[in-house]
Amino acid sequence: MAQTYAEVILDIPLSEPLVYLAPNAAEVRPGTRCVVPLGRATRVGLIVGESGPPAFAASRIKPITRILGEVGPLSKHWLQLTQFAADYYQHGWGEVALASLPRILRMVPGVRSTQSLARLRKSHSIPWSEPATAAVELTAEQSSAVDRLNQSSGFAPHLLFGITGSGKTEVYLAAIAQKLAADAMAQALLLVPEINLTPQLEAQLRARFPGQTVVAMHSNLADGERAGAWLAAHEGRARIVIGTRLAVFCSLPHLALIVVDEEHDPSYKGSEGVRYSARDIAVKRAQLLDIPIVLGSATPSLETWAQASVERYRLIRLANRIGAAGASNELPPIELIDTRTHKPRNGLTEPVALALAATLERGEQSLVFLNRRGYAPVVACETCGWLSHCPRCSVFAVFHKPDRTLRCHHCGYMAPAPRSCPTCGNQALKGVGQGTQRIEETLQGLLPGSTIARIDRDSTRQRHSAQRAFDAVHAGAVDVLVGTQMVAKGHDFQRMSLVIVLNPDGQLASHDFRAPERLFATLMQVAGRAGRSGLRSRVLVQTRFPSHPLFAALQRHDYAQFAETQLAERAAARMPPFTYQALLTAEARSMESALAFLRAAHEEAAEALDAADSVVRLFDPVPMTLQQIAGVARAQLLIESDQRPQLHAFLRRWLTALRARRASPRWNIEVDPLQL
Ligand code: ADP
Ligand code: ZN
Ligand code: ZN
Repeated sequence: MAQTYAEVILDIPLSEPLVYLAPNAAEVRPGTRCVVPLGRATRVGLIVGESGPPAFAASRIKPITRILGEVGPLSKHWLQLTQFAADYYQHGWGEVALASLPRILRMVPGVRSTQSLARLRKSHSIPWSEPATAAVELTAEQSSAVDRLNQSSGFAPHLLFGITGSGKTEVYLAAIAQKLAADAMAQALLLVPEINLTPQLEAQLRARFPGQTVVAMHSNLADGERAGAWLAAHEGRARIVIGTRLAVFCSLPHLALIVVDEEHDPSYKGSEGVRYSARDIAVKRAQLLDIPIVLGSATPSLETWAQASVERYRLIRLANRIGAAGASNELPPIELIDTRTHKPRNGLTEPVALALAATLERGEQSLVFLNRRGYAPVVACETCGWLSHCPRCSVFAVFHKPDRTLRCHHCGYMAPAPRSCPTCGNQALKGVGQGTQRIEETLQGLLPGSTIARIDRDSTRQRHSAQRAFDAVHAGAVDVLVGTQMVAKGHDFQRMSLVIVLNPDGQLASHDFRAPERLFATLMQVAGRAGRSGLRSRVLVQTRFPSHPLFAALQRHDYAQFAETQLAERAAARMPPFTYQALLTAEARSMESALAFLRAAHEEAAEALDAADSVVRLFDPVPMTLQQIAGVARAQLLIESDQRPQLHAFLRRWLTALRARRASPRWNIEVDPLQL
């Protein structure tokens, strides 16, 4: 009798599937998990197809240990999507596919696992019962947006370009409602950039869709919760999945609509493992499935904006803010406070202090935004010039006051802050600059009797603590909220009428060509937290560069013009999105060996480049901006091409050669890097 062979992918950096002997042809269903031997270990793999008889050494082909049939097979489309992502980002298929599954489904199961799957299935078997809320009456602008979405069929990418507070969420909900009503099986996927935004939206979705199962998917879930949510989606019980980046690969057999909220947000791009862009993968997924997708933002990424400009994406605008009782409402004016004339005291200028006091007086809330946690970014000795460097990284260690420590925000290094200068013994060490802890302290002195809350990564380490803090702000129990970018996104604070932005200047001076785009988006977002329910509001920005052109566009709330100017500059300089990039990074004990590897790779590239690739350009290897993290030296080599297919073909050949090299340091490839 002829043997049956199966192709199996595993979470290893191999571009081709491995071949195993299958028990019988009937069980070789693509998309089914199985247990296979790999070297001396056993691993969970995924069957992706049947294989012909191996060309040689058939006797050495090992059999599949076990087929894990208790979870139904992943769809053909899902396999296609993960294979596409693996090819695109130059990783192994299994590295994308297996890594996207919940941990429980990736582990070789023990004997009691069938039982535990049954338990996991129970967690989402009954829809949440919550008091239902009726849909609000849409404004004319919202209705026409929803109509345009509903009219589309097949693959139709839309950019919903709506200013902050224009009611984008209601448009998403109405579009989802239409899809779910049109087909009793249909599922919708809603991606959000920030874990802290999921509870708010999840509650909103459950209230709006009573009787439907809504599941959340993000990295803060316990293994069981994540697997339960995943199974509910995979088995069609969950009609709506809301999640962060990793949810883009969730199995959704009846997916009919994808929404990517705040599509410009950098957190859609991962910084570890396979560095995929969940936004871009979402668009690809919609294309493979031939379904509509909505990318929403007040400040779209320039990549997306460029697609809309050439009408590859359909542009839908929401130009008006929704005020109290659904009436339209102006965006708050943005005022620039020149810190060269208004000297800050402990980080705050006088106009800012006055505005805070006046807002408190009126019983309204303020937001103070500063993208720097800790108390002081560096501690200095004015006698000998000692500075608090991290001993393992090329950055300063930050002073944290609550426990009097110096901490590195890159490697986790932590030590008690010295009482005197380690070099000269000077007792009067100074914390230089401002972090959120220091601003919180300054505010306490400035506004005695008020309630001040700080939200940053340090204040929210405990599970649910961020949620509790945001709830307190929403409930009106907080007068002034101080925070990092965690507070800038998405939240709809009703009584907030003052937004203060401290020190955006570092980003203005950055070498990264994407810095202006990011800063503009952040400032629009933060400014958008003010005046969302009709309160007269102000936004004050403290800066040394008030005449910077970015601020002029910001004050006009004119993203479109800002984007056009930026795109024109990028086109002239042949920068993305007018060229395509990849970044090869190397990590080694010394900068010399990291650079040596990249130089060798550079030479190897010269050989891998054939005439057809002449459009691929390689830059010289250089140390990264953060040269050293946790004692590891880091260097990079940038690759560019005006033609994506050529770039990818070159990368494939080149990386195959690099993978074959022995004794190379750790290296990684990132396609479409966001940070250079
Ligand atoms: P965006 O995401 O565009 O910044 P939101 O979706 O958060 O804006 O909406 C802003 C506010 O307006 C929310 O409080 C929302 O409940 C409210 N809102 C949205 N649409 C309407 C409407 N048609 N009528 C009344 N209120 C609305
Ligand atoms: Zn000293
Ligand atoms: Zn460090």
